[in-house]
Amino acid sequence: MASDTTRSAPTGGAADTTPSAKPHRTPSAPSAAADAVLAFANTHADAGGRQERFADAEGLARWLTDNGLPDAAADVSEADAAAVRELRDALVTVLLGHSADPRTSEQALTRAEHLLRRAAARYPLAAVLDRYGARLVPGHDGLPGVLAGILASAAELALTGAWQRLKACRNPPCHFAFYDRSRNTSGAYCTTTCSSQVAMRNYRNRHRAGAATPGNAGDAAPEATPRQ
Ligand SMILES: [Zn+2]
Repeated sequence: MASDTTRSAPTGGAADTTPSAKPHRTPSAPSAAADAVLAFANTHADAGGRQERFADAEGLARWLTDNGLPDAAADVSEADAAAVRELRDALVTVLLGHSADPRTSEQALTRAEHLLRRAAARYPLAAVLDRYGARLVPGHDGLPGVLAGILASAAELALTGAWQRLKACRNPPCHFAFYDRSRNTSGAYCTTTCSSQVAMRNYRNRHRAGAATPGNAGDAAPEATPRQ
C-alpha cells in the first residue's frame, strides 16, 4: 500500500542524534514508514544519556525542525508537547508488546490502544484513491498533520504485515525501538549489549536467589549473546 506520509512524517532515519553512552544505533529500517515510526518512538530518555526530546514545547519545536518540519514547529504549546509524549509513549508500549515484554501488562496495552484510537480521531487521515492504488493523507496541516502522518506510517506497516517487526527493547529502561530482522520475528533487544545486560542481570538474580542452595553456586556467567 502506497502512502505519501513520508512528506509529512519525519524521515530523519532511526538513528538517534543525541550523544549516548551506549551504542544506540538502529540500522536503517526497510521502509520509510518504519523509519518514520522509529524516529518518533526513539525520542524518550533512557539511562544511557538519551534525552527526552518532547520535555517541553521548545524541545518539541526543535525536534520538528531537526526533522525537516519547521512549519509544524510554529506555535507549539506545552499542551502539545504533553499530547505528543502521550502518543509516543502509547506507541512504545505497543512496541514493547510486540517484544513480549514481561513488564508490559495487558492493562497497559489496552490503555495504549485506547489512546491510539483517540489519537486517530484527533489526527484524521483521508484515503486518496487513484488508478494505481491508495494513499493515506493527513487531513490537517501543522502538528496534527505530522502526528496523522506517523499514524499513517504505522497503519501502512500493519497493512503490509510488518507491524509486528517493529519492537521496543525489553531491557529496562532502554526501550529503544528497532526493526526486528530476525527470521522468526523473535528479536527482543535492540543490541547485543542490551541482551547481554539482561542475561547478566538474570544470572545475578538467580545466583542470589540460589546462593543458599547447594549446586547452584557453580553456574557459569553468561557470555555476550547475539541479539535474539
Ligand atoms: Zn536496548
